[in-house]
Amino acid sequence: MTFNPEYMKETEDIRTNLSQVNKKIAIMSGKGGVGKSTVAVNLSAALSAQGQRTGILDIDLHGPSIPKLLKIDNHRLFINENQYVPIMARENLFAISIGSLLTSENDSITFRGPRKSSMVRQFLKDVNWGKLETLVVDCPPGTGDEQLSLIQSIGNITGAVIVTTPQDLALLDVKKSITFCKQMNLPIIGIVENMSGLICPGCGEKVDIFKSGGGEKLAAELNIPFLGKLSIDPTIVECSDDGKIAIENASIAYREEMAWVIKNIQRNSES
Ligand code: ADP
Repeated sequence: MTFNPEYMKETEDIRTNLSQVNKKIAIMSGKGGVGKSTVAVNLSAALSAQGQRTGILDIDLHGPSIPKLLKIDNHRLFINENQYVPIMARENLFAISIGSLLTSENDSITFRGPRKSSMVRQFLKDVNWGKLETLVVDCPPGTGDEQLSLIQSIGNITGAVIVTTPQDLALLDVKKSITFCKQMNLPIIGIVENMSGLICPGCGEKVDIFKSGGGEKLAAELNIPFLGKLSIDPTIVECSDDGKIAIENASIAYREEMAWVIKNIQRNSES
C-alpha cells in the first residue's frame, strides 16, 4: 500500500466525492461467468425501481459487461466541470463502466497492476455521483488489484455480495473471496447461489443439472448469510443479449427467486 502524501490526498478526495453515497455494495465472485454482473444489474434495477437513486460502477476492466446489460453500449461518457457524468440508464439508475470509454466493444484493456488501481481510483474520484442511496460495484472475478483499490480507497464499503455456482470448483474459488473479505475487514452481506438447478420449460419441475445447494452448504459451514438460489433460466441469456433486465423479463419462477435474493441483500445491508 502506498502512503505518500499525494496518494493520501487522493484518497481523501475519493471519500469526499462519495460522501453523499449512503450504501456501497460490492458484487464479487471467485471466478468469471457465474452471474455476478447479472446480479449487480438486477439489484441496481430493482433498487432504482423502488425510487432509490442508485449508481452502478463496473470495475471489471478486462470484461466490462454492464453497458451491454443496461443497453447503454452506444453511449459515450461526457465530462462536465472536470468530472465524468454517469449515464442515466433508466429512471434513478446511473451507470459508469470502463466499457463506456472504449471506442469499440472489441477493444481490450491491457493494464497491469498499478494502472488498474489508478483507473479504479479515477472512477471513484472523477465521477460526479452526487447523492445516491446505493452504489453497486460490479467487481472483476477473483481478488485482484481492482478489489484491493476499491476497498482501500472507499474505506467504508457496506459489504460484499458473493455470487457462486453450486459446483465444487466454483466453491473453492469462493472460499478465497471470503478469506480476502475477512482479511480486508469487509463485511459479507451473503452468498448467492446462481445456476442452481434448471426449471424445465416443459413441466415446470426443477432439475439439478449442476448439483444444487453447494453455496447454501458453504454459507452454513462458514457462518455467512445465505441470500438465496437462482435457477438456470434460458431466457436470461436472451435478456442479457437484448439489454433487458431479467427480474422484469425472465420466467416468473426466476423473477421470484431474484426478488427474494434482492430482499435479503437489502435486509442484510441495513445498518
Ligand atoms: P459474470 O459477471 O460472473 O462473469 P454474467 O452475469 O455476465 O457473469 O453471466 C454470464 C452468462 O451467464 C451471461 O450470458 C448471463 O446471461 C448468463 N446467466 C447468468 N445467470 C444465469 C441464469 N441463472 N440462468 C441462465 N443464464 C444465466
